[in-house]
This record gives sequence, C-alpha cells and structure tokens, in this order.
Amino acid sequence: MLLFVLLLALGPLLPQATAAQATINGSTYVSLDTIAGQLGMDSAWIKRGEECQLKSRWTTLRFTLHKRWLMLNGERIYLGLPVASNRGQLMLSQRDFDTTIRPLLTPTQFEPVPKLYRIVLDPGHGGKDPGAQNRTRGVNEKTLTLDVAHRIKRKLETYGYKIVMTRETDTFIDLPDRPAHANRVDADLFVSIHFNAVDDARVSGVESYVMTPAYLPSTSSSSLTASARKSYPGNKNDPWNVLAGYFIQTAMVRNLGVTDRGLKRARFAVLRDLNCPGVLVEGGFLSNGAEAERLKTTAGREKLADSIVEGILLYQKKLNILRGKG
Ligand SMILES: [Zn+2]
Repeated sequence: MLLFVLLLALGPLLPQATAAQATINGSTYVSLDTIAGQLGMDSAWIKRGEECQLKSRWTTLRFTLHKRWLMLNGERIYLGLPVASNRGQLMLSQRDFDTTIRPLLTPTQFEPVPKLYRIVLDPGHGGKDPGAQNRTRGVNEKTLTLDVAHRIKRKLETYGYKIVMTRETDTFIDLPDRPAHANRVDADLFVSIHFNAVDDARVSGVESYVMTPAYLPSTSSSSLTASARKSYPGNKNDPWNVLAGYFIQTAMVRNLGVTDRGLKRARFAVLRDLNCPGVLVEGGFLSNGAEAERLKTTAGREKLADSIVEGILLYQKKLNILRGKG
C-alpha cells in the first residue's frame, strides 16, 4: 500500500517512458523529440506526422516517416531501420541514433580518437577483372580506379601522409587480400575506389559505403540476415567509419555537382575485415554517358581525386579538433 501511494505521488514526475521510447518491430526506438532534447536541438514539423526537422545553429536533420535515410544539412545519410511513428511522434531506432547520429553530431563521445598518417588506397578490380565497363565510351573501371588512386596518392603525399596502394599496376588482387594488406601495414585509413554501372543509362551520381553496424541491415537489404547478427573486425571502428565516409561523400557531392546517392552501409569484404576505419567510394556511373565522358578526361579524374583528398583532409581536421589540437 505504501508503495502504491509512493508511486502515485511520483507518477507525474516520472519521465513519460512510453512516449519517449517504444519497441517497434522488435527494435528499440526513441522519439525525435527526445533526441532533439539530448542534442540541444529544436524540433518542428515540416509536415505533421510525416516529416520532422531538428535544428541547431549549424545543423539541420530531416526525417521522413518510413524512410531509411535522413538528410543532414541537405546530404543523404542512410539508416539501418526506417523512421517510425508512435503516438503521433516520429521515432528513430536507438541503434541508428548510436551508430549514425552520435558519431556525426557528437563524436567527442567516442574514444580513443584515431591517428591519421598511413593511408591505404585500394584501386578496385585489376588484371583479369576489369570491373564495370562501357564499351561504347571505351572506359573500364579497373583503369579509372588505378588512375584516380595514383592522383590521390600524389596529392596526399604533398600533405605528408604515408600512402600505400593495394596495387600499383594492372594486376588482379583477391578481395580478402585488400583489407589484409591494410592490416599488415597497420593503416590508419583505408579508401577503396570504384565506379558503378547499371542497365539504366540515366542513373548517375556518387555514393560512399561504410561498414554496416552489427544488428542492422545493410542499405541494399531490408531484413536482418544471419551475417547481420554479429560483429566483424570492421565494426571496431563504427564511429570513425561513418565520420570518414561522411566527409568524403559530402566533399564529392559539393565539388562535383553530381547527384548525391548518399552515404550507405554494406558488409563488403573489403570493409568487413579492416582493423582501421574504411570507406568504399563509387565515383560515378560508367553506364551513364555524361559521367563516362567526364571520367575519360584528365580534368574529370583530377577533380574526383581532389574531392576525395578534400574529404580526407576534412576528416583529419575533425580528428584534430576531437584530440584538442584543432
Ligand atoms: Zn567495383
């Protein structure tokens, strides 16, 4: 009886746990209002019940009901689980909050801050594996990735970085050997360079992939497969993966003026077994005439290399700030 009275008295003071948190499709979700409160942001509806914006002085986050992405200052970041709704409020999965929002908005919460000196560049494909091709335009992926990687190498060396390449020439390298190479030289960052191709020639733009956090589906999948239910070496760097990927993707989108296909998640072999942060860049669609022509030119490849370098330098700047040396 005493307990009952006590609970009755405390009732109005207790946080409204049901509204702030909910279990949706077996996953813990938190309301965007709660997240706004934790991040010191203001929340407002763009469209009541469907689209919500969290805003602070420098940052705007936009969420849309049922979508598996958010917009951070206008740039698309993919989530593991869709934005949901509970009691008229939009909700985000706790795992997405922890593995995407917190690393991007409050990275000071993560330690230790990695150093950045030895960077491994991984030109995709090579040798017997040409990768994507556009025969009409006379381009293939393995040649472009190697060319762009060499350009990035030269540029980064002028900033004092130690650059290692998984291949320097047109040779075939097995997928597992690529992260193994990075691990062997104790890399601080791994950047794999690729180009896309699809049947629909209209599709264009750039996208970047980082390792999918444990217990979340990858961008291309909507359900939790067996491979999602465990942690991989690449998950040790979850916060730094997303931070590095964010800076590289946004630098490409800003500088190249192409379609932003977003920062995505995948358990690619080259990312899964890395001991250091890693990003896989898809620098354009060879199946798209305009992008293939742009990448055929020295200026086009130079601009892409410059953009990736800028992204890496912005990531470095962020690490310096976090280490208190900014
Ligand atoms: Zn590729």
